[in-house]
Amino acid sequence: MTERFRVLVTDDIDPEGVALLRAHPLIEVSEKPTRPAAEVLAEIGEFDAIIGRSATRISRELLQGGDRLRVVGRAGVGVDNVDLATATELGIAVINAPGGNTVSVAELAFGVLIGLARNLPQAWASMHAGRWDRSKLGGVELRGKTMAIVGVGRIGSEMARRARAFGMHVIGYDPYVGPGRFEELGIEPVARLAEALDRAEVLTVHVPLNNETRGMIGAPELARLPRNAFVLNLARGGVVVEDALTEALRAGRIGGAALDVFDSEPLAADHPLRSVPNLVLTPHLGASTRDAQRNVAIEACEAVRDALVTGDLSAAMNATSVGGAGMRELRPLLALADRLGRLGRALVPGALTSLEVRYTGARAEAPRPLLLAALQGAMRDVVERRAINLVNAQHVAAERGIETASTHVDGRGELGEEIELRLEGGERSIRVGGAVLGETHGRIVRIGPFRVDVAPRGVMLVLRNRDVPGVIGRVGTLLGEAGVNIAEYHQARLQVGGEALAAVTVDSRIPQDVIELLAGKPEILEVRQVDME
Ligand code: NAD
Repeated sequence: MTERFRVLVTDDIDPEGVALLRAHPLIEVSEKPTRPAAEVLAEIGEFDAIIGRSATRISRELLQGGDRLRVVGRAGVGVDNVDLATATELGIAVINAPGGNTVSVAELAFGVLIGLARNLPQAWASMHAGRWDRSKLGGVELRGKTMAIVGVGRIGSEMARRARAFGMHVIGYDPYVGPGRFEELGIEPVARLAEALDRAEVLTVHVPLNNETRGMIGAPELARLPRNAFVLNLARGGVVVEDALTEALRAGRIGGAALDVFDSEPLAADHPLRSVPNLVLTPHLGASTRDAQRNVAIEACEAVRDALVTGDLSAAMNATSVGGAGMRELRPLLALADRLGRLGRALVPGALTSLEVRYTGARAEAPRPLLLAALQGAMRDVVERRAINLVNAQHVAAERGIETASTHVDGRGELGEEIELRLEGGERSIRVGGAVLGETHGRIVRIGPFRVDVAPRGVMLVLRNRDVPGVIGRVGTLLGEAGVNIAEYHQARLQVGGEALAAVTVDSRIPQDVIELLAGKPEILEVRQVDME
């Protein structure tokens, strides 16, 4: 029977996402409300995947208890609730939904920006207080003002589109984004943060929080802003220094600010920020729209479904970074790299110390995923509890002290797209090579110095032998007598009468006594069998 995947859905994720999972014939969904950790732990062993929001903590203990667990899905962006290191170590893919709430955040940013420009919170409060403060609440237009966007990623880009619609001039600082993207978005790139600050009538940050961005906008940066500038932080608490912002607002050096995110959340009831003038505060509402919740649920559920059913790990944060379509296109190459890894490993007994992949072809994104696939092939069965996969291959290799490298040779190989692996271990090293013919058919084309041409199928027998007459016949007879059916037999030699190599694919695994019989023949120097399925 075809394998069915069991998915535990929790934390009340949007029904449209859940429906998408239920609609798949190979997926069985169990939906539960948020529960205490012990209850989730008690049943996690039955599931292939768990999807939730931030309420359920995906701890080390939970991950270790999930014997079948292969995927963790998070309907949202942040994965602070997931023990990512443990998941990677165990080969569990962690998938989030980074794109689903982009527009909601950008719309909120404009909401608060217009609020600042037109004093909406003050107007609202004064009207409720019975006043008519028309003369006190004069504002400014956004049109013609310069908005500086720090971090031109998903949200930064949506900010730019909206700012342009408002007739603003948009400048952007993001050293990791190429000039083409700026041009496409109509953003004037600036090379230094200081320049962006000097010109920012509206400063908005949309960067992740990391060592480089923590405290990125502090007192010296705020001091550079034009007088009356507005400052927005809807990214992460800590990017804009709270004390410095408070100080600049109290001194009237900037016109106003809005914070949706804080150093510590929830913000304490008596926190000093609550009484700072011209500071609009929202309780981390950026993604809190029905639309965003639906979008992130759909995005996460689709990605978890694809990871389970088709093995597509392109959305996993802890796996290789190839987009969905890209990953599908790479599949024949990945399968070949994996088989070459298995073959190379069989020919280098003992501890592996290094593995290098060299890819010849036009796909610049291929080398890294191919390295992971080759490592996966080379280290099959080395992880005791759980099979090795593209998620943990690099991690396990590092743990075992295997040095890795991947290189890209742009252009066409002799046979089309080609992969070559070089494996080293103990006293030995070997090169094995393969090519993908006709875009889908992987062939093994090189084993050590020998040119071969065999499909990596069934079980492959690699024989090193002396080039003397009758070897093929004797090997064939021996296998035939053992009831082993030969699919392909490729004999290669470097010179007449020298050393030869046979790559033989057979339909079933060859019993050990037959291997020993083969190895005992005087003309046979070495026998290895490699499982290629
Ligand atoms: P993204 O990854 O698409 O974009 C981040 C951008 O920041 C990238 O283009 C990157 O190159 C740039 N960047 C990184 N380091 C930088 C640096 N030192 N200087 C300048 N640019 C730098 O992320 P996104 O989805 O646009 O999210 C942006 C931020 O918004 C994140 O911090 C995210 O956590 C936050 N966010 C907040 C809410 C909310 O509810 N308020 C919701 C979603 C996301």
